[in-house]
Amino acid sequence: MIIFFFEDPSLNNPTNIFLNQRWGRHSIEVVCPNCHTTVRTRVETSSTIITIILAILLALFCLCLGLIPLCMSSCKKTIHYCPNCNYILGKVDEFE
Ligand SMILES: [Zn+2]
Repeated sequence: MIIFFFEDPSLNNPTNIFLNQRWGRHSIEVVCPNCHTTVRTRVETSSTIITIILAILLALFCLCLGLIPLCMSSCKKTIHYCPNCNYILGKVDEFE
């Protein structure tokens, strides 16, 4: 006898639910799918290769312009972590 299980992949991986959520650049309050605690997300912003390439291109016009992408959070990648278990809850790509 063969039993087939038809499972919804989003049920096994709660991260999928969170990836569909619209994440901002600031900390928000969510229930962590890993430790099931209501937490305020810890936000880390980091430069990516796209940020650096844009900074170099702008610096070719004027050195001061090259600093703009390095200072603007919208030109960087933002990742939301759970402060309890360091689980990655969501992320926002640069220019999103
Ligand atoms: Zn957690």
